[in-house]
This record gives sequence, C-alpha cells and structure tokens, in this order.
Amino acid sequence: MSVLRVPRRLQRSSTAAGAHKPVWLFDLDNTLHDASKGIFGAIDGAMSQTVASMLDVDADTGDRLRKEYWKRYGATVIGMVRHHGVKASVFLERTHEFDVASLVHSEYGLMRKLACLPGRKILLTNAPLDYAWRVLRALGIAHAFECIWSIDDMALQGRLRPKPSTALMRQILARIGVPARQVVLVEDTLRNLRSARQVGMRTVHVFHPGTPFSASYSGRNLYVDVRVTSVGQLLSGQSGQRIRRTMGHV
Ligand SMILES: [Mg+2]
Repeated sequence: MSVLRVPRRLQRSSTAAGAHKPVWLFDLDNTLHDASKGIFGAIDGAMSQTVASMLDVDADTGDRLRKEYWKRYGATVIGMVRHHGVKASVFLERTHEFDVASLVHSEYGLMRKLACLPGRKILLTNAPLDYAWRVLRALGIAHAFECIWSIDDMALQGRLRPKPSTALMRQILARIGVPARQVVLVEDTLRNLRSARQVGMRTVHVFHPGTPFSASYSGRNLYVDVRVTSVGQLLSGQSGQRIRRTMGHV
C-alpha cells in the first residue's frame, strides 16, 4: 500500500491483482474521528464568521445562512457559491485554517483496525483536501488510505457536487473501476448512505449522536446494510459478521 507523503487526490489505481477486493470509501468527520468534541465547533464558528464577513451581515444572520445552506445543499459552500458568487476555494480555506491537532479525538488503535480491514481504502469527504490531510496526519492514519477524494475533486460540469450527489457517486464508481456491489461507503450521514445505495453500493452507518439530523432517525434504514458505533466494530462481533456476509468475500 502506498504511503501518502503529500495531500493526494484520487488516481485510477485499480489493478488486476486488486480487481476483486472490496473498496472502502470512508467519510472523515464523525466517522473516523469524533468531530463533535471540538472540530465541528471550530468549523461552524469559522463558517458563521466567514459568511458574515463575506456578505457583510451580522453574526446571527451569518450563522442562520450557514445552517440553511448546509441543510439545503449538504455543504454551506455551495450556497455561498450559488447565491453569492463566492469563490469556493477562498471560502473553504478561510473556514478550515485552524489547528486541528489539539482537537482530534478518535477510538483507540484506529490505524491497526484499518490495517486489519481487507481491501482498498479511500477517504471520501466533503471537506477540503488540505484539512483532510491534516486530520489524517493528526490521527496517524494517513498510511491506511491510497488517496483522498475531497470537495476539491467534486466539481462536475462547473458546479460543485459533493455528497450526497448521486452524480458524484457514479463518477467515483467510474473512476475506481470496480462494480458498485464491491464498494462500501462508511458514513455517519444517512442521506449520503442513501445516495450510495441508489447507485448500488453497500453501506455502513457509523452512528454518531452529534451528527446533524441523526436524532431524527431511529433504528436501521432499508438502505443501510450494517449499523455500527465505531470503525472497530467492522472487524468484530455481529456487525463484523454481517458486513462479511454482505460483502461475501471480505
Ligand atoms: Mg461525516
């Protein structure tokens, strides 16, 4: 498995030797680490401030617009681009430039657990590349991933199409070059899992009570194959057995 020394975007890396291995698409925030303990607060605060300063509105309005665009589009930056002509890269840089190392929290032994999971692993996040890279390094798990697919890679025909876009999901499948049933999305956000299922992927819901709107769902949805509360559960117990059955060959 290759080592990430610099932020790297997705490359076509399917080989004959790895053609039948599962491909795990891991979300980042509240999936691989507990963003609710500090990072979401830092991002939300920076976003509200940046929205307010870029649009020259008061703090309350900035906070309201941040939430409204996240809910409507899946990412605040899309609302800022569509409705206010803001340059996405500038907005994302200004809202993710804080120090992440002191804020990351994750389960014990995460790198070892990821290494034990057979198959290719790709990070799939609506966050910017530089931020994703810094979080992976702070968590000590950058080596587990062959590449990062960040929001920097989610423009289709000139428009940002982050998760939960099904057009994005189809683009990912085309790029990684394996059948959808061989691909598993591991995510805390249910609407992203629903899109993955719509294009035929397998789905693992990492339940996190701090994920926005997670409280409005209970139990397991029909588009969720396996529900866990930590990545480690993919390897052990009933969840591990279920994912192995679901994937057939894992
Ligand atoms: Mg997430």
